[in-house]
Amino acid sequence: MRMYDLVNKKKHGEALSKEEIKWMIDNYVTGEIPDYQMSAMCMAIYFQGMNDEEICALTFAMAESGDMVDLSPIEGVKVDKHSTGGVGDKTTLIIGPIVAACGVKVAKMSGRGLGHTGGTIDKLESIPGFETAIPNEKFFKNVNKSGISVVGQSGNLTPADKKLYALRDVTATVDSMPMIVGSIMSKKIAAGSDCILLDVKTGSGAFMKTVEDAETLGRKMVDIGKLAGRSVQALVTDMDIPLGNAIGNSLEVIESVNTLKGNGPEDLTYICKELSATMLNMAGVGDYDECMKKVEEAITSGRAFDKLVEMVENQNGDSSVIKDVSLFEKASIEYEVVAKESGYVGRIDSEKCGIASVVLEAGRETKESEIDYASGLILNKKLGDKVEKGDVLATLYTNNPDKVKPASDIIYDAYKIESVKPEIRPLILAKIK
Ligand code: URA
Repeated sequence: MRMYDLVNKKKHGEALSKEEIKWMIDNYVTGEIPDYQMSAMCMAIYFQGMNDEEICALTFAMAESGDMVDLSPIEGVKVDKHSTGGVGDKTTLIIGPIVAACGVKVAKMSGRGLGHTGGTIDKLESIPGFETAIPNEKFFKNVNKSGISVVGQSGNLTPADKKLYALRDVTATVDSMPMIVGSIMSKKIAAGSDCILLDVKTGSGAFMKTVEDAETLGRKMVDIGKLAGRSVQALVTDMDIPLGNAIGNSLEVIESVNTLKGNGPEDLTYICKELSATMLNMAGVGDYDECMKKVEEAITSGRAFDKLVEMVENQNGDSSVIKDVSLFEKASIEYEVVAKESGYVGRIDSEKCGIASVVLEAGRETKESEIDYASGLILNKKLGDKVEKGDVLATLYTNNPDKVKPASDIIYDAYKIESVKPEIRPLILAKIK
C-alpha cells in the first residue's frame, strides 16, 4: 500500500477500506508515514468526510494503536464521561466527586487544554503538588479505596490520537466530525470503563457550532461505543456562552469547590446535577429521580466535597487550598472590564472568552507555552443580565501587564449589550441513547 494512493483516493471522495485505514494508522504511529502525508489526509477527510464504516474502522484502529486498559482490578461498575471541549467546562471536577460519593467508581483519564478550550488536567495541576501521572497500580488502588481518581492519558494509551491530535491542532483540521469521533471514542474504548456519558457541546465555543451537527456527532459516538460493548449515552449541551462564571485553571477549581458546597452558579450546578444523575442511572443505581435525589444529598451532606478532598490527598495534592480556597496563589493584576452602555447582555461569545483566557496565559499559545495557573477571567454578567453603563462585565486576572489591553479588547468584542432581554435557550438541547 502507498499513502500517496490513499490520500488521492480520499481526495476524490472515495471510501477507504478497513484494511487501508488500519495500515495508515499503524504506519503513522511507527513513523513510516510522515506528518506531511498525514496532514494531506486530514484535510482530505475534512472536506470529503467518511462513511460510518470508515469512521468505525478509524476509531478501532486508533483504540488498538496502544495499550487497552484493563480496569478489572477495580471492583464494580466503572463510569466515565467525556466532554467534546468547551470554555469554563470544569464539570469533571464536580461530577467525579458527586458520582463517587454516591458509590459508583470513576476511573477517569482526562486531557489538557486544546486551542481555546480548557482541559481538566491543567485545572488539577493548579492544585499545588497534585500528581496527574501516576502508575496504573496506584490509580486502581485509589479508585478501589476512594471511588475516584482522575489522571492524564497514560503513556501508551492511543498513541495514534496523541500524534494525530497534535497534527490536527496545527493544520486547522480539528473540527472534522469523523476525526473527532475517532479521537474521542478511541480513547474512551481504550480507557476501559463500562459506562460512558458523552457531553457533546454545541454553540460558539464548541467544535460543533449547530445543534444538528452536535446531534449527529453524538449519535455516531454512541453507536460506536455500543459496538464496542459499552453502555453509552450523550447529552447535547449549550456552549454558546461559557459554563459557569470562571475561566482559567485555579479560578475554575475554586468555582468547582463552591459548586460542590452548593454555592455554584446556576447553569453549572444544573448541568453537573443532570450529568451526575445520568451517570448514576447508567450505572444501575436507580431510576433517574432516585439518582437525582442521591446527587442532591451528596452535595447537601458535604460528602461530594469530602470526596474531592480525598482525591486530592490521594494524588499528593495540597488539600489546604481546597478546604480554604483563599489560599490559592492570586494573580498580581486584577482588571475590571466595565460596560460602555446600558441594556441587557444579549450574547457572550464563548470562543472569544476562551481566546481571552489564552491571551491572559491561562492556556497555551503554542505546545511549549507555560500556563499561569492563577490567570483567567470571571464573568460578572451572564446572558440576560441587566447592565448599567459602568457595571463590571468581567474581571481579568493576570501576572503579565502587557496582556490586559488585548484581553479586554476581546472581552468587549465577546459581549453584546442589547436593548431587549434575550430569549435563553435550554442548557440541555438533546439526549441520545
Ligand atoms: N476532544 C478530543 O478528545 N478529541 C477531539 O478531536 C475533539 C475534542
